[in-house]
Amino acid sequence: MYLDAYFINAFAMKAYTEKRDFTKTPEPKGGKKKRTSKNPVFVIQKHAATNLHYDFRLEIDGTLKSWAVPKGPSTNPSDKRMAIPTEDHPLEYANFEGNIPEDQYGGGTVMIWDRGKFKNLKKNDAGERISLKESYDLGTIEVWLNGEKIKGGYALIKMKSGKMKGNWLLIKMDDSEADARRNPTNTQNKSVVSGRTMKEISTESK
Ligand code: MN
Repeated sequence: MYLDAYFINAFAMKAYTEKRDFTKTPEPKGGKKKRTSKNPVFVIQKHAATNLHYDFRLEIDGTLKSWAVPKGPSTNPSDKRMAIPTEDHPLEYANFEGNIPEDQYGGGTVMIWDRGKFKNLKKNDAGERISLKESYDLGTIEVWLNGEKIKGGYALIKMKSGKMKGNWLLIKMDDSEADARRNPTNTQNKSVVSGRTMKEISTESK
């Protein structure tokens, strides 16, 4: 069990490690063994790379499953936000805020735009809870996010056909936290960890 988890994690981290030169980027190396957490964490990182986007990451089985969301999360259940799957990131990445050198992979400023714990909501037709890993493999994830800016139920749905096959959609579920008028990606522009703006992060060494 322990060894399995180790090898799965090492394999999942391979793409992350291969893309980066850790003598040049301040991003975490990760790679330590991690166990499945009872209180998994999510993070949304605003990332001013070549194209500005929000990286949405969910802790699933000891790693951060990751998607790049160009428009970021919406609080309006009518919005379907494109979420492009990216390589798994180490759990330590949930603490990363800073500047990736311009000549490195993903070069640009990274802000911890929101962060918190989340709960798995997904059930099967019989009403039984499905694990996060199973949900991920099925391509239908349903979670309750307890962030500072983003709260409530969100669904991530993998598209299985058509031009966008393989991409996912991030959709606010229609619950008590749904709000069509809020626009947090426009109005809440500071780090939940440091209180800094993107500009402040980019000009300050950390
Ligand atoms: Mn990114």
